[in-house]
Amino acid sequence: PDLFTPERRNSEGFDLTDAPTLARIDAARDEHSATDFSGQPLICGKVKGLAPRAALNPATGARVGRVTDAAPEDVETALAAARPWSAPVEERARILNRAADLYEENFGPFFALLAREAGKTLPDAVSELREAVDFLRYYAARAKAITAAPAGVFACISPWNFPLAIFSGQIAAALATGNAVLAKPAEQTPLIATLAAGLLLKAGVPASALQLLPGDGATVGARVTSDPRVNGVCFTGSTETALIIRRAMAAHLAPGAPLIAETGGLNAMIVDSTALPEQAVRDVIASSFQSAGQRCSALRCLYVQEDIAPHFTEMLFGAMEELTLGDPWSLSTDVGPVIDAEAEAGIRAHVETARREGRLLRQLSVPRGGHFIAPSVIRVRGIADLGREIFGPVLHLATYRAEDLPKVIADINATGYGLTFGLHTRIDNRVQEVCEALHVGNIYVNRNQIGAVVGSQPFGGEGLSGTGPKAGGPEYLARFTRPEAVPQAG
Ligand code: GLU
Repeated sequence: PDLFTPERRNSEGFDLTDAPTLARIDAARDEHSATDFSGQPLICGKVKGLAPRAALNPATGARVGRVTDAAPEDVETALAAARPWSAPVEERARILNRAADLYEENFGPFFALLAREAGKTLPDAVSELREAVDFLRYYAARAKAITAAPAGVFACISPWNFPLAIFSGQIAAALATGNAVLAKPAEQTPLIATLAAGLLLKAGVPASALQLLPGDGATVGARVTSDPRVNGVCFTGSTETALIIRRAMAAHLAPGAPLIAETGGLNAMIVDSTALPEQAVRDVIASSFQSAGQRCSALRCLYVQEDIAPHFTEMLFGAMEELTLGDPWSLSTDVGPVIDAEAEAGIRAHVETARREGRLLRQLSVPRGGHFIAPSVIRVRGIADLGREIFGPVLHLATYRAEDLPKVIADINATGYGLTFGLHTRIDNRVQEVCEALHVGNIYVNRNQIGAVVGSQPFGGEGLSGTGPKAGGPEYLARFTRPEAVPQAG
């Protein structure tokens, strides 16, 4: 359901419990098991490009394709050629809807690349394609209600953890409102971005309104966020990078240029003694280990009420044993690799410190080769012990006494982050009290805390977690427009 645009429905996606559907997906994906994909700038002009590099599979180290990153000259060509999309909103919406259809038709190469380039399991890949398609259709539908003019040229800087959904959602929002887009995909996932941007162009988005600039932060990101021809920036990634972007914009862009940033989280869940343990365990597992913990919404710090902690942790460790780690190409894999060597080293160092300090409570074993991190549970006194966001399959576990609940909530608020929060309880009043006291964007009660749904669960945080407005919600598009001049009576 779409709460805000009831005439529209989210896509059906693919039912992985249906054997013929699964066989169809498997066959379409298999066709691309060895395809050598290519990634390159798609600009309105001649591409110069840097020396090509190989894109590698994080699970196997095998080559997935060849990437030509944008040269500084390509960024200049794109900036000079960028023109807001002047077609009427109905036509823009029609073209974005056609792009959504093309995305769905191309599920084979998308699922292959989501596994091979981004390390995504098939269920994650299916949700991701679905979310991308929903963003395209949702913003196409919402744009019809917007009367304000586009901001102009928007830089869209997207992350590797949702290389299709967030990449497409940012672009769709900027295009639906009539902006020109300069899209900088994450360095780790240029192949998926090239495939997706190619389909948007094929659907009819003009080349001057959508240009793709694969490359690193210094060559592409820093340039597009500090050029006065850019009128706004949409960014998803780390809080540190968002602050760098804000400084660059403050120095070079017009004072009113919008920054829409979705950043990190230090997300907690509270499980009290009235919770249903079977359900809570399942939701903890999904929230912390699905997508190898590489979601900004993922659970990082679990608080279990002291009275049930021994029983609950025993059940949790038992459920962890059931997880299968490995190459996400295999249909039986639950947890794939982390994205690259740098991510692996950072997470590993954190877990090793905990092991040395005697706080590593549980750790699964990892397959050989590839950037795998074993799902791990680390004991902490509370969320303040985490210090920073560990972007991987690592859960921190604390216990609390019933009378200390207000202190737990104060500690969660004190992190300064405010993205997602989970609560497992059967006390209605508690739901009310806790939700009111917490400063977070998305609260999930008696379920997992990942996988916000476009059009019914707008997603985004507060404080260090982002600027708002929430993606996939009714307020989002307005930030991509120029504030309307209000005539003053004289
Ligand atoms: N929207 C995603 C979710 O609800 C998370 C997005 C992100 O990791 O940036 O799980």
